[in-house]
Amino acid sequence: MKPEAGADVLVVGAGIIGAACAHELARRGLRVQVLDDGHGGATAAGMGHLVAMDDNPAELALSHYSIGLWRQLREHLPEACAYRNCGTLWLAANPDEMDLARAKQHNLAVHGVAGELLDGATLAALEPMLRPNLGGALKIPGDGILYAPATARWLLAENALISHRNARVRHLASDRLELDDGRTLRAQQVLLASGLGARELLPELPLRAKKGHLLITDRYPQRVSHQLVELGYAASAHANHGTSLAFNVQPRPTGQLLIGSSRQFDTLEPQVETAVLAPMLRRAVEYLPELAQLNGIRAWTGFRAATPDGLPILGEHPQQPGLWLAVGHEGLGVTTAPGSARLLVDLMLGERPAIDPQPYQPGRFPGLQRSPA
Ligand SMILES: Cc1cc2nc3c(=O)[nH]c(=O)nc-3n(C[C@H](O)[C@H](O)[C@H](O)COP(=O)(O)OP(=O)(O)OC[C@H]3O[C@@H](n4cnc5c(N)ncnc54)[C@H](O)[C@@H]3O)c2cc1C
Repeated sequence: MKPEAGADVLVVGAGIIGAACAHELARRGLRVQVLDDGHGGATAAGMGHLVAMDDNPAELALSHYSIGLWRQLREHLPEACAYRNCGTLWLAANPDEMDLARAKQHNLAVHGVAGELLDGATLAALEPMLRPNLGGALKIPGDGILYAPATARWLLAENALISHRNARVRHLASDRLELDDGRTLRAQQVLLASGLGARELLPELPLRAKKGHLLITDRYPQRVSHQLVELGYAASAHANHGTSLAFNVQPRPTGQLLIGSSRQFDTLEPQVETAVLAPMLRRAVEYLPELAQLNGIRAWTGFRAATPDGLPILGEHPQQPGLWLAVGHEGLGVTTAPGSARLLVDLMLGERPAIDPQPYQPGRFPGLQRSPA
């Protein structure tokens, strides 16, 4: 049954972040109305790798917390969400890169994420499609994958306290929204989770687009069983200018291989660019030579919403009480959706979050600081 009228919270955006927030609000007994313009954003375009990232302690705290929450949800997720606990292999291109693997293992272990170092021979036996003579790998067995668009839909449909309307929001304030057709909706609280689109509603948000390319192959008998990522991925993910590439391949439950990854700043052009796609695929073939024999059936692009420090913005708008922000999840929003949602809803309800909310609070950016009294 859907709520009759009114809602306690209006959520803008039905991507994985808005859906996870709505799901968490409803789980805590609040009536939620979700508004989405139907254009689709990063959730429809991403890779869905659930990965403990350790470039800084706050990123690791949120990703580790979230992966644990996905694991708790796992038994409820329908098969359409395609959750798999396949683990990640962080690949060392040569023996020297095993130093990076050891450092990463240590860093993750300090925060409770288990990892296992594999030598070159063990890696070759585990993933025979990889080129021979790699230096080895760090295996993170707790990582996984899921199909984010289906998971967002499931999160919205799963609780009768959530209603979902197709509508574009053109203006918002603490307790009200104005829709494109001129109607106004009110609630005690408003939660903004509209990804990159949030910039149009709140120009003070420090969000920048980072374009990414992906390509998926045809279906083949399964020959890759872990998400495969080069250890140099972090450097690519955290570059803050230009174009960067890294080898990142995901085995889909369908037998397809999903190939990434690229990052580009300062473009909003959705076209697939051969100048980016071709070197991305060449890099993939360097690690998985047999890829060159497989058919790629579709390539596409998407835009991540990046903040200057790479962490999402989670908390109440310092100048607009009642307006809550859940934006800026860059290339990790599928992973961090449940942790972001739980942390934000804890703050909304005046409860103490399980992880420190300070690193994600909006007021760390100049345009979002409290105005002087
Ligand atoms: C190529 C690529 C690969 C990625 N790979 C991974 C990965 O492997 N692992 C991972 O964890 N993350 C990955 N990500 C990142 C992840 O996809 C995003 O962080 C996440 O999907 C962000 O979700 P969101 O809900 O904040 O935004 P979005 O998915 O963009 O959703 C925002 C929604 O708001 C709607 N909207 C916008 N403006 C309005 C408005 N004015 N009124 C109403 N509705 C509006 C949009 O239509 C959209 O539906 C990847 C992203 C890309 C692009």
